[in-house]
Amino acid sequence: MFTKNFKNEVVEIRGHKIGLGENKLIKIPVDRLPTGTLIEIPVYIFNGKEAGPTILLQGGLHGDEVNSIEMIRRMLIDKSYKINRGCVIVVPLLNVFGFLNLSRDMHGKDVNRSFPGSKKGSLARRVAYYHMRDLVGNIDFGIDFHTGGEQRSNFSQIRYTATDVRAQELAEIFNAPYMFASSLIPNSFRNECYNNNIPILVFEGGESLRLDEDSIEKGINGTLNILKHFKMISDKIIIPVMGKSILIKKRKWIRADIAGLFSIKIKNGNKVSKGELLGNIMDTYGETKLEVLAPKNGYIIAVNNFPIVNMGDALFHIGS
Ligand SMILES: [Zn+2]
Repeated sequence: MFTKNFKNEVVEIRGHKIGLGENKLIKIPVDRLPTGTLIEIPVYIFNGKEAGPTILLQGGLHGDEVNSIEMIRRMLIDKSYKINRGCVIVVPLLNVFGFLNLSRDMHGKDVNRSFPGSKKGSLARRVAYYHMRDLVGNIDFGIDFHTGGEQRSNFSQIRYTATDVRAQELAEIFNAPYMFASSLIPNSFRNECYNNNIPILVFEGGESLRLDEDSIEKGINGTLNILKHFKMISDKIIIPVMGKSILIKKRKWIRADIAGLFSIKIKNGNKVSKGELLGNIMDTYGETKLEVLAPKNGYIIAVNNFPIVNMGDALFHIGS
């Protein structure tokens, strides 16, 4: 288990001191729009009175992944961060520019490929640099909330780094419907935290630019599981009980063999058997129909909701 002796300390961010038992909202200035409007990243800090871990909860690293922002917003409204022990640093929306532009990126650059960042680089790299210096320097571990891409919906899942035992333990505590180890992507947030010996869980649920109630609930429940495990919140808080997270060991994308109109015949998240009908691809002007069948027994952990597909497009992500 996480054996570290957690301390309770005054948290200092950009000259703001957040004492024990204090909560504070600070706004980190990033840039000005060409109109002169100042863009700031709001950061909430909830510092408990007793010793415990300091956790980062981060949404909107990709600006269009709205479920991540909504989860964190809802926990703010529900007062889920009544922290007795340790500290929670909450960033509801890291990529303010992407959010404004309905884009995953920040001025054309993916922040999640811009770590460790630099003081003088692109805006994405600057944000990455100051994020690591000002916030991540304070934390013991973090949860980075994401969604699938446009029209590609991930069923609620936790990803962690295979060689990070603590991250796997945290993933078990989070207890999302599915969990698996995934490779580190160079210059990603998780990769840079790994280099700094900070475990990061990546939660994925739903797709970009679409709120998905089930994913939001699973993300919130998992976060509460973590907070409760470390006795950071009241043990009276009731979290819906779920079956144990299913550990996925192998994953594969099932791709379109032909182009056409694609219809889905199963539910995302379902267990499927080899040969089961997953969907159909229809010849757009004719009668030809290609059945998309499960190549093996497994679990559907992502689906492509886009109805027009080209040959080779990813349709279903199957895990086993
Ligand atoms: Zn993302």
